[in-house]
Amino acid sequence: MKTPYGTECEYFYGDYLRGRNREECRLFAATGQAWNTSLCRSCPVPEIRRANACQFIRLKPRVTRSLFSGFQRQVQVTAFCEKSRDVVKEPHIGCGQCHPLPPIFEIK
Ligand code: SF4
Repeated sequence: MKTPYGTECEYFYGDYLRGRNREECRLFAATGQAWNTSLCRSCPVPEIRRANACQFIRLKPRVTRSLFSGFQRQVQVTAFCEKSRDVVKEPHIGCGQCHPLPPIFEIK
């Protein structure tokens, strides 16, 4: 579903039927953290999921404020792979276990 900022996000849910106006982020809801739609504006999650659709990656969002963003609330994401059981340093790419390089690229 598209967020109010026009980005397709698998975790966003909006119910506007018959005058309802219910919106939620199921990624934040799963972690029990407070959320509002303004966080979608600069959230990296839709971009990460477009770049890496791995079924084993688990994203964990966190709201931060930094000096460089003028102390505006921003979403930061950490990632964990359930297959390799390791932290994923670069969520856009993944841990590399599911997508090894073809043998032609291996150095013998
Ligand atoms: S905060 Fe991020 S993950 Fe949650 S609905 Fe908005 S864009 Fe999606």
